[in-house]
Amino acid sequence: MQIKQTNQIFNFEKYPILEKDIDPKQRAWIEIRGKAIATNVRYLKSLLSKNCQFMAVVKADGYGHDAKLVSEYAIEGGASQLGVATLKEGIKLRSSGVKTPILILGNLYTKKDLIIAFKNDLMPTISDLRECLICNNIGKQFGLKFSLHLKVDTGMSRLGFESYKFIQEFEKIKSFENISIEGIYSHLSSADEENSLDSKSSTQLQRLKFKEILKQINVDSNHNIKIHLANSAGMLLNKDFHFNMVRVGLSMYGYSPLSKIDKNLVLKPALFLKVKVAFIRVIDQGVGVSYGGKFVSSRKTKLAVLSIGYADGVLRNLSGKIKVIFKNKLYPQVGSITMDQMMVDITGSDEIKVGSTMVLLGSEGDKTISPIDWARESNTIPWEILCSFKNRLPRVKVD
Ligand SMILES: *Cc1c(COP(=O)(O)O)cnc(C)c1O
Repeated sequence: MQIKQTNQIFNFEKYPILEKDIDPKQRAWIEIRGKAIATNVRYLKSLLSKNCQFMAVVKADGYGHDAKLVSEYAIEGGASQLGVATLKEGIKLRSSGVKTPILILGNLYTKKDLIIAFKNDLMPTISDLRECLICNNIGKQFGLKFSLHLKVDTGMSRLGFESYKFIQEFEKIKSFENISIEGIYSHLSSADEENSLDSKSSTQLQRLKFKEILKQINVDSNHNIKIHLANSAGMLLNKDFHFNMVRVGLSMYGYSPLSKIDKNLVLKPALFLKVKVAFIRVIDQGVGVSYGGKFVSSRKTKLAVLSIGYADGVLRNLSGKIKVIFKNKLYPQVGSITMDQMMVDITGSDEIKVGSTMVLLGSEGDKTISPIDWARESNTIPWEILCSFKNRLPRVKVD
């Protein structure tokens, strides 16, 4: 390709530059600490009874961490099952060579999708008899048993059989010859709320309802069937919620969903968000910064322009509410966060230069900023913060 710019002719083919030649740390990136994932899983498993298994929930690309990488380290740490939300997420793990049992937590309701799940050795979550019949037919068609988990609703009102129907229909489902019931589960709606340990809390009521259902169908944790109810919060409450498997997401990534009970937990955040300083300028007193000029300097101010913005997943409503770490010091972000850049007040620092690396999430020295801090500031939950990071941020593995 030859391009004529002004009066010069430049032969680009002679100097090809590929995307992969660009340094992933050129602008802004996410560091994934695989070992932190393995350590967290090992630690969380130490809180479980011996016969209780650990399902690592790696949906939404491993909560933004890279599902493949997370799966590898979670398995190293002792996870024996993986949970994904979608068919595509499951297939992606299978095609990258993951052999561990995978449960699809979302619902598949067409025969076509269920066949794809079957062929990729992915276990669907089944919430009604109709889906069960389809699975049985697929099993029959291939002369095999279709492995699946049954889900029963105990108060979330999302997926799962109605409890009375489940009890009615379980005998029939059990008699299907071409399915293999690998698990029976339910999901807690409010385990992260402060009252979860009170005997009358909705979390306890869900647990009791689940136990009663299991009793009615004559299944307990001693069967080969995996019985599971707990997410991270449920798992951390106490062993009553464990049955013989737990499904853990948030805590495996290094955060506690419980504000009260997390004092003694030793979880290591696996995600660090880092950014390069792209430009430095000094503005006078009384000068507006960024769109709308909503921040006006109250003194002569030194600004660092960071190359990260809301198109990378840093929510715009965090404008003016977050800080950035550089060498053990915190610097406030000022002015509106823009699509691709944001400004930080670095007045007083002579060390920060163009090309310096600042930390938005993670730790440096004795300073730590967590997605939980961002969630509080932007009136959301840490799960949403983790899921908001876009693919424009390269994921860089660090041990
Ligand atoms: C996402 C999810 C989990 C994991 O929840 P965390 O709170 O992140 O531990 C567990 N079970 C189901 C059904 C889920 O959808």
